[in-house]
Amino acid sequence: MVELKNITKVYETDSLKQVALNKISIKFRNCEFVSILGPSGSGKTTLLNIVGGLDKYTSGDLIINGVSTKKYKDNDWDTYRNHKVGFVFQNYNLISHQSVLSNVELALTLSGVSKDERRKRAIKVLKKVGLSEHMDKRPNQLSGGQMQRVAIARALVNDPDILLADEPTGALDTKTSVQIMKLLTEIARDRLVIMVTHNSELANEYSTRIVKIMDGKIVDDSNEFDDI
Ligand code: ADP
Ligand code: MG
Repeated sequence: MVELKNITKVYETDSLKQVALNKISIKFRNCEFVSILGPSGSGKTTLLNIVGGLDKYTSGDLIINGVSTKKYKDNDWDTYRNHKVGFVFQNYNLISHQSVLSNVELALTLSGVSKDERRKRAIKVLKKVGLSEHMDKRPNQLSGGQMQRVAIARALVNDPDILLADEPTGALDTKTSVQIMKLLTEIARDRLVIMVTHNSELANEYSTRIVKIMDGKIVDDSNEFDDI
């Protein structure tokens, strides 16, 4: 279980201090599909990056499976990011000169898994996202929806507990977005999926919980979790 306790994130640049998250407290279930909604600049990406260990909080605490991360060292964060979390971005972030299969396999290179095993796992997860026939193509030979499926496969190949997706349907048409939402719904059956989106209709239809944020604060939570 992941919990944010009074998390504040301040970005300091030469001229100003920007409070991106302002004392956020929220607990996530091990299995749920959370949509984060909010205007541009409200702190959505910052929130995802902090949950995923891509960015460090300024104050507060991120509790992972009951353990505080206040004393985490760089290698603790590395382990967390590499083994517990998968990331999906709006612009896919695929390597254009590598095949679909290699793109997914590469996500396992840091995990100490043998080459054969890497291939096996990559093929399995590509099948799961419906891309078995496209494994030898390069990303630019795919549609946007297919590229996002590759990115999702890459994020899942390590079997992470948490999948974080930052506007994964932001560049897709409605029909393709629905397909991606259905895939994320299925993925959320046995893990935590947290997705940032601008599309409240899709969020309402597919996610099990909607969290709204504004000016770095949570202003609404449709399915709050308190396990005490
Ligand atoms: P959202 O994803 O909701 O659009 P962000 O989390 O990206 O919002 O940003 C929240 C606020 O923090 C914005 O005001 C943004 O300008 C600021 N911000 C985000 N990242 C940085 C950064 N690396 N340096 C300085 N300010 C940042
Ligand atoms: Mg953002």
